[in-house]
Amino acid sequence: ICDKYAHIYNYEGGGVSFNSGVSCRLVDGDRGTMTAEQVAAAINPPDFYHSPLTTLVSIENTANKGGGTCWNFSELQAIKKVCANNGLKYHLDGARLWNAMVEMKETPLQYGELFDTISVCLSKGLGCPVGSLLLGAKEQMDKAIRIRKIFGGGMRQSGFLAAAAIYALDNHIERLAEDHKKAKEIGAALAAKSFIKKVEPIETNIVIFEIDESFMTSDQFVHKLIEKNILIIGMGQGKLRMVTHLDYTNDMHEELLKQLASF
Ligand SMILES: *Cc1c(COP(=O)(O)O)cnc(C)c1O
Repeated sequence: ICDKYAHIYNYEGGGVSFNSGVSCRLVDGDRGTMTAEQVAAAINPPDFYHSPLTTLVSIENTANKGGGTCWNFSELQAIKKVCANNGLKYHLDGARLWNAMVEMKETPLQYGELFDTISVCLSKGLGCPVGSLLLGAKEQMDKAIRIRKIFGGGMRQSGFLAAAAIYALDNHIERLAEDHKKAKEIGAALAAKSFIKKVEPIETNIVIFEIDESFMTSDQFVHKLIEKNILIIGMGQGKLRMVTHLDYTNDMHEELLKQLASF
């Protein structure tokens, strides 16, 4: 069970089915988040011949396609209860978990206590060149390491990457608040423009917006930005996305705001 915007469903080439032989039951949530009631309603009846057996709930925090949405922690706790009552595992896709924790003033311990497994990306907001980690109890991790080997993902030379990760964990977490501030400033600059139809609420470092196509198409807007040496790509369905991060500097930010103001 996951939200219809979930990265694992939309952006991994169907790997969830190809690699793991499972199907996703999608929930029609709100900006990438779902309620405990919606999760409970998505559990298949205990019918061993027809419906797929429900085994896992996966949530994404922050929710990328939802616009960097932060979950309400009490909803995550309510979903945990639904999982416990129905014998389901509970996974957190925490590619951007630190953005959520900085914004909502939450702690890693809170999340560790709630979930069976957590995946995190070191290469997104934290700025490492590469790297994702899976966290969980020892027996599950022993199993995961074996599956990683089977998938060809074993790596003997990971110390260099671990060093980058340790540096990022020590130095790049608090500064995520700066990325969030910049994202809100970009959102305000866009919202001030008559040719912008909609800017999704900005909670963390992701800005998703739409062009009023009676002024210009989103492709035309992307090309106008390219002329100013600002490169962005669309997300489809007329949606455009900008993400602030470690390598997006103050100078770049000032330049972008200046260029947007001049449109
Ligand atoms: C990037 C991303 C992933 C996958 O990370 P990998 O480093 O490619 O394994 C998973 N979930 C979300 C939400 C992501 O943004």
